[in-house]
Amino acid sequence: MERCEALVLGLGAMGAATVYQLAKAGVKVVGIDRHHPPHTFGSSHGDTRITRLSVGEGAQYVPSVGRAQRLWRELEALSGESLFEQSGLLVLTSSPDFDPHDQTDFTLRTIGLAQTYGIDHEVLDATQIRQRFPQFRHVLDSAIGYFEPGGGFVRPERCIDVQLRLAEQHGATLYKGETVTGISSDEQGVTVITDQRTLRADKLVIGAGNWAGGLLGEPFEGLLKVYRQRLFWFELEPETDLVGASPTFILTHGRGDDKINYGFPALAGEGSMKIATAQYHTAADPDTLERTVSVAEEQDMYQQQVHGRIAGVSAKVIKSAVCAYTVTPDRHFIIDTHPALQHTLVVSACSGHGFKHSAALGEAFAQWCMRGSSDLDLSSFSLKRFEGK
Ligand SMILES: Cc1cc2nc3c(=O)[nH]c(=O)nc-3n(C[C@H](O)[C@H](O)[C@H](O)COP(=O)(O)OP(=O)(O)OC[C@H]3O[C@@H](n4cnc5c(N)ncnc54)[C@H](O)[C@@H]3O)c2cc1C
Repeated sequence: MERCEALVLGLGAMGAATVYQLAKAGVKVVGIDRHHPPHTFGSSHGDTRITRLSVGEGAQYVPSVGRAQRLWRELEALSGESLFEQSGLLVLTSSPDFDPHDQTDFTLRTIGLAQTYGIDHEVLDATQIRQRFPQFRHVLDSAIGYFEPGGGFVRPERCIDVQLRLAEQHGATLYKGETVTGISSDEQGVTVITDQRTLRADKLVIGAGNWAGGLLGEPFEGLLKVYRQRLFWFELEPETDLVGASPTFILTHGRGDDKINYGFPALAGEGSMKIATAQYHTAADPDTLERTVSVAEEQDMYQQQVHGRIAGVSAKVIKSAVCAYTVTPDRHFIIDTHPALQHTLVVSACSGHGFKHSAALGEAFAQWCMRGSSDLDLSSFSLKRFEGK
């Protein structure tokens, strides 16, 4: 039986950050993944992920994203790779239903948090949005915008790759293409069985993403649902002036999840803009997920989300991808010790908004392995909130 001080199950966004931080701190750590990360079967592919300091999902996320942004810069310095692009971030609402007093509106929530936490930002009216951001020249007169100059996007595959490479340089052992099939624990530690070996660890961090429910059973199986998502890269119109002038964005254009879309800057040399929306109505199984985007889905996306809302992009999709969220009932993370397994931390930090925090969360999980607590306060992500529900 192989022995280690810490074992990290899953080497996606959360696991890669954790294994890197543990190895850097000198902990004897093993990481295991059923695929070969970075890969295209989980939640962490598709070139780009939004990062913003004013996290409209809630104040509990503000400390971790700030720490993560500093860590991406450290990782860039260590690796020479470009990971975090401060393209500027525009959150805007241009909706016929817009109510300036509606504190559930994502743009208003984002503005409120930025004001509370002193995050550098500007509030824009419709005229300013149209002047500064030509892709949104069609916004309604009632539109409101939040611009965060320090926001932008990170490169998920590169972030994972860099952290795994650095972890190995610091002495981590990584087993890729190996599936964990069983976990048990006792007073002294945890035993993990894979399809190739048995390992014994003092501490276990589980970041199994889409597969967490199936692997861990209850209560996780009942709490975590997997939702297939589609990513679209729309070809730019020939005469467009968007390259170098488009921010990362989140656009609300009505009420409900299907009236929000988001996208990334048109980058020089790419000829496209990545735009997506999220769906939470049809759950899926990660092992049988349809991984191809159909032509009908491309056309529907253009008609519902792009046409008349985002100028400068054509209806032609030059690239698409399928990726999946793992979603909790309240769409906030679950980060807690396992209720039955000792020495085990379970991390489901997705629900579609986890990547921006991953570098900092990995640091916190490494601290948990080493001293049983973390600098970041993770108490709001505990399982307790679902008890009795
Ligand atoms: C389409 C899409 C868009 C998103 N946009 C944003 C965004 O703009 N900003 C943002 O902050 N976040 C965003 N997110 C969320 C973010 O990407 C996720 O929070 C993050 O990727 C989750 O990382 P993870 O480590 O939990 O999962 P993953 O990265 O999927 O890693 C889980 C790993 O566990 C491995 N594994 C599972 N079971 C086993 C097993 N039994 N044995 C061994 N290995 C196993 C898998 O192979 C996988 O590599 C988005 C997510 C999606 C899908």
